[in-house]
Amino acid sequence: MKYVSTRGIAPELSFEEAMLSGLARDGGLYVPSEVPQMTREDIAALAGLSYEETAFRIMRPFIGDTFTDAEFRAIIDRAYAPFGHAARAPLVQLDSNHFLLELFHGPTLAFKDFAMQLIGQLFQAALARRGDRVTIVGATSGDTGSAAIEAFKGLSNVDVFILFPHGRVSEVQRRQMTTPGEANVHALAVDGDFDDCQAALKDMFNDFEFRDGVKLAGVNSINWARVLAQVVYYFSAAVSLGAPHREVSFTVPTGNFGDIFAGYVARQMGLPIDRLVVATNQNDILHRCLSGQGYYKGPTHPSISPSMDIQVSSNFERVLFDAYGRDGRAVSQLMEELRQGGFDLSQGALGYLQENFASGRASEEETLATIAGTLASSTELLCPHSAVGVKVANEHRTAEVPMITLATAHPAKFPAAVEQASGIHPPLPPRMSDLYDRPERVTRIANDLAAMKDYIRGHIAK
Ligand SMILES: *Cc1c(COP(=O)(O)O)cnc(C)c1O
Repeated sequence: MKYVSTRGIAPELSFEEAMLSGLARDGGLYVPSEVPQMTREDIAALAGLSYEETAFRIMRPFIGDTFTDAEFRAIIDRAYAPFGHAARAPLVQLDSNHFLLELFHGPTLAFKDFAMQLIGQLFQAALARRGDRVTIVGATSGDTGSAAIEAFKGLSNVDVFILFPHGRVSEVQRRQMTTPGEANVHALAVDGDFDDCQAALKDMFNDFEFRDGVKLAGVNSINWARVLAQVVYYFSAAVSLGAPHREVSFTVPTGNFGDIFAGYVARQMGLPIDRLVVATNQNDILHRCLSGQGYYKGPTHPSISPSMDIQVSSNFERVLFDAYGRDGRAVSQLMEELRQGGFDLSQGALGYLQENFASGRASEEETLATIAGTLASSTELLCPHSAVGVKVANEHRTAEVPMITLATAHPAKFPAAVEQASGIHPPLPPRMSDLYDRPERVTRIANDLAAMKDYIRGHIAK
């Protein structure tokens, strides 16, 4: 199994190499050269299996000979053991033919734990075998950073630096990043927004002297291993509702296009998915693009679903690569135009995207109303991101095909918005109820690339 860059220039890599390097050296993202197929029989055989066994069967064909079956099974078991629910990703019913996939039972209460817990164990196993160490730098709108810190804290072969936009993450998100006391963990509050953090990270990867000097590794949603981990729950949920004998649809609250891209991969592997619906908040560049209005950046408007306050969705490049017939030069050209502000899609590419994805958006008022309405009709208390999904799902679901909306975070991670909408202050699960009492440790840093690089160079373990 080989991985190729969406810009077509960087060398092909193995799974292990693609995982450890993150972003390709030509600025592109790694994708598998071919997508492994699951037959109807393979999918039918998933019925009744544990989440871990399902994960093993879905991901095994992608990892090549990086790990033996026994090693890979042990990695998966360790990754999901800290979850607070035996099913890992349970489905609950909201309405006739509408289901919620609860992805918030991991250690930091957001779906990012599914990928990050696995990546922590994969990195540890691969680096220990190589006798190597890496510096992980991540940019976060809140949930990636907390999940990464939780997954990598205390690992002996890794230093972790997380860039987050100062004042633009929720208090629970911030505390999850600033309260772990392990010396290999560094939370950096940047005077900028998420797109600034993400741009700084991209620049660090494109500075080869810095990149090689600190042995930079990336665990943002650009890392292929993260996308792969997320493919699993599309299968587990669909099989619970009758796949492969019955089609299902999914609605996915979307920011960086990572989670929805995993659904697209599941469909390419053979899972019968009817609709894949992209749900955005008021930062709706993806919805506008899929509606034929081109892909043009605007200012980011802070919202009550901050993990989706994104203008440039990094994983969108992966689907553009397919939409342009896997032509790396065409993708490079588009990304150059994006630096200048944006681009229009070719007719063919827009047609490809519209065949694969539907889309919708939710305003702030609609999001709040959906939290209140869903609580009244089903007793389920949604986080604002999940509410964006439920609102858009309601516009796309049909009587024939079950709709599964991904619930991406626990309501207690965003208590202010949830309380505003519902009057209920959602409590943290007991296992983390002392979060507000733990001491914080954070460094405030200017939105200045040189300052960030100096800090990182000065704080990696020697
Ligand atoms: C990251 C995140 C999203 C967006 O996911 P993408 O993979 O970036 O599209 C949605 N909701 C929550 C709670 C998140 O943390």
